[in-house]
Amino acid sequence: MSFDIAAIREQFPILKRVIDGNPLIYLDNAATTQKPQCVIDALVDYYTTCNSNVHRGAHRLADEATRRFEDARDIVKDFINAPKREEVIWTTGTTEAINIVANGLGSLLSAGDEIIATEMDHHANLVTWQQACKASGAVLRTIPVTDAGELDQAAYDAMLNERTKFVAFPHVSNALGTVNPVKAMTAKAKAVGAWVLVDGAQGAAHGYVDVQDIGCDFYALSGHKIYGPMGIGALWGKESVLSTWPVWRTGGEMISTVTLQDATWNVLPYRFEAGTPNVGDAIAMGEAIRWFSALDQEAVAAHEKALLDRATELAEQFEGLTIIGTAKEKIGVLSFVMDQGHPADIGFLLDRQGIAVRTGDHCAQPLMARFGVPGTARASFAIYNTLEEVDALFVALKKVRTMLA
Ligand code: PLP
Repeated sequence: MSFDIAAIREQFPILKRVIDGNPLIYLDNAATTQKPQCVIDALVDYYTTCNSNVHRGAHRLADEATRRFEDARDIVKDFINAPKREEVIWTTGTTEAINIVANGLGSLLSAGDEIIATEMDHHANLVTWQQACKASGAVLRTIPVTDAGELDQAAYDAMLNERTKFVAFPHVSNALGTVNPVKAMTAKAKAVGAWVLVDGAQGAAHGYVDVQDIGCDFYALSGHKIYGPMGIGALWGKESVLSTWPVWRTGGEMISTVTLQDATWNVLPYRFEAGTPNVGDAIAMGEAIRWFSALDQEAVAAHEKALLDRATELAEQFEGLTIIGTAKEKIGVLSFVMDQGHPADIGFLLDRQGIAVRTGDHCAQPLMARFGVPGTARASFAIYNTLEEVDALFVALKKVRTMLA
């Protein structure tokens, strides 16, 4: 298999857009990726041909919708190499997946227990644990970030102890692009008997994930970061943990029996899927993963590396620009500040040239504080980006520098 960038771009209708006379250069992929036509078609086809509620219908449309919905669950399962399909819970995204775990964890914590998160976490993977600690009297500890933007492993080692009940960290930092040593970090947490959650919002966006190899208890991901729709994602959790975990939302589908005074819970995964699920988007997320998985993954990785290498090289030569996050293991993200202007001005002036980047704190305020910046400008790459687009970013940044000077 080869990697035909022109053929890939052709499948993304939005990439044909023109912004103020400039061809769109979309470099905000860590926020959300664009969708190939087959994903859009999967959504339209579902609503056009078999829209129906799942699991409980006694008619053809319900059967078809249920089959497609459950097939999509299998696609997620295979993509992350989960051992069992029952362990894959549909959620609205990574945020909800983390909240499901935090909700259960909260009731299992006591005063004096410790949770470890990190200084580089997205707010979704930090504020949630803050709240769980506040409610239970547990203590939140956070792994510091080094100047290069890596998690300080020595500090992590020193934090782990018999009171550590739970450890959460990102697979890949959305603000820096750092790829964390998740397998080694999980093994250390497991050695003290802690549960481990990996925030995979950015990790899953760049290729296959192997939750069995990582050894974690939970892995959270979002469809919209992997070329799928917004409002859909998944929580994977080990059956041995999830089947004993306190339930999340209550309502239809998640119950087994109900009397006027009490209820018993359904089996996994339905135990955590109260109410009518987001069937169409789950099917389209499955299609996105199917589409992405069919690409030559080695070629995908090589292309993404080439994009980041080129961007880093040009950034290093660019006067007045400082890269924030220079970890040895990095993927997909170039975060930077410039002497001449605030990130918001950089973003505004790039947009006028058709280039979409993200500016601000990237939902990681403690991380920005760590680097002493109010925010950064962030160019983040996906498989449809080209080296020419990276070059164009730096041509545009030169104009920005002149305008701001
Ligand atoms: N964690 C990380 C590392 C992220 O990058 C994001 C989104 O940017 C999230 C969590 C939250 O994902 P979502 O908004 O899809 O729930």
